[in-house]
Amino acid sequence: MTREPERIRVLVVEDEESFVDALTVGLTREGFDVTVARDGHEGLALFRERPVDVVLLDLMLPKMSGLDVCRSMRADSDVPIIIVSAKGEEVDMVLLLEIGADDYVTKPYRLRELVARIRAVLRRRGAHELAAPSTEIAAGDLRMDVDARRLYVRGDEVKLRKKEFALLLLLLENPGRVLTREVLIDRVWGSDYVGDTKTLDVHVKRLRTLIERDPKNPERITTVRGVGYRFEPVSPAGL
Ligand code: CA
Repeated sequence: MTREPERIRVLVVEDEESFVDALTVGLTREGFDVTVARDGHEGLALFRERPVDVVLLDLMLPKMSGLDVCRSMRADSDVPIIIVSAKGEEVDMVLLLEIGADDYVTKPYRLRELVARIRAVLRRRGAHELAAPSTEIAAGDLRMDVDARRLYVRGDEVKLRKKEFALLLLLLENPGRVLTREVLIDRVWGSDYVGDTKTLDVHVKRLRTLIERDPKNPERITTVRGVGYRFEPVSPAGL
């Protein structure tokens, strides 16, 4: 399946007006789709609201530091994050890498350098049109682009958190097969599984609200009582 090449979506989290303006103009001219947040809270809120391909994250931000924003984004997503620091600002590179940043640039930087770095992190992630054709799984009205970690439901992109994506991928890879709770938990969470046994059910519930036509009467992810869950292959009539 092919689709029109999409513009790379950049979320710029930056509070300095002069940089915001120059970046917006420059990146838009380079063909990027730019969204701007002026502080840490707004950055995180926008990030959770709509999918982006790459984040440019200033370190010194009002309300919430760039480091904390980076940690929060990383908890939910593998999106490439480029940290932007001010000249003379002390930057702990080891810490940046530990919290999952992909790269960093120091202000002032040239637009060309920034664009090259954005393309480089996307290439490293194997994301978007720069990469080889991606693997897709289609099942009725669902389409998952595995490499780009994207899900389309009836043609619209739906944003999934990391574990939701992993869980749905596992289900999609095993259509019609009952997957036990133990297998799902082990494969999706492994030793990360903390909390009560409801965590799996909470994730299934959220997936249903995203993909089912009627989440209260699920037809795609069905419950096998006392055992686990099953992803239903498409009915002969199609969905
Ligand atoms: Ca700043």
